[in-house]
Amino acid sequence: MTDEFAAKRQAMVNEQLARRGIDNQRVLDAFARIERHRYVPAELHQLAYEDYPLAIGSAQTISQPYVVAYMLAALALQGTERVLEIGTGSGYQTALLAELVAEVYSIEFFPELAERADRLLEENSNQRVTIRVGDGRAGWASAAPFDAVVCSAAPAAIPPPLLEQLAPGGRLIVPLGVEHQYLVLVRRVETGFSQRQLLPVRFVPLL
Ligand code: SAH
Repeated sequence: MTDEFAAKRQAMVNEQLARRGIDNQRVLDAFARIERHRYVPAELHQLAYEDYPLAIGSAQTISQPYVVAYMLAALALQGTERVLEIGTGSGYQTALLAELVAEVYSIEFFPELAERADRLLEENSNQRVTIRVGDGRAGWASAAPFDAVVCSAAPAAIPPPLLEQLAPGGRLIVPLGVEHQYLVLVRRVETGFSQRQLLPVRFVPLL
């Protein structure tokens, strides 16, 4: 990568992700390729590779790189999956997902965010991604079932359609809770759903 932020981006991968234990090479490679600065407002370009979330408009944020990497690594994506993303936001995580899986369906509540993300992803001529405006709580029934679901905003309880739309063996990762949030990884197993609590986090609420 030869853009002016290439060195900062590689430093982000090494220091914020690899050094903290992200060891999924496909995830690390995706973070090295996707230009995070393109997904934040121009005045924040210089901060795009720092170790914290940033404002992207409509009172929403692009999550801290480490947290995004942690979520994507937890899903153990192989490359063949169909994935549902709730909360397109900047489109950054959407672009990462497009590097990691076969098909991405992404739902965003705010039309202006969805439009901007759609434009950015189209500039990359990304044909793996379909974005629509709507309420992610309902999931995307016509595109289900999904091998993985990534929810980028925090509900108080997991919306049932997101569980129902999981394929057998499918995984869902979601920040769960209001005051105290934890990332929760759910897997659809033969007998129902297994659930594991991972790290404490702070996400914007699922609207
Ligand atoms: N993954 C995003 C993070 C965005 S923050 C990124 O990389 O930038 C969470 C996003 O979820 C916001 O854009 C917010 O508007 C969206 N959101 C919140 N509630 C939602 C809902 N019910 N349906 C769809 N999107 C929602």
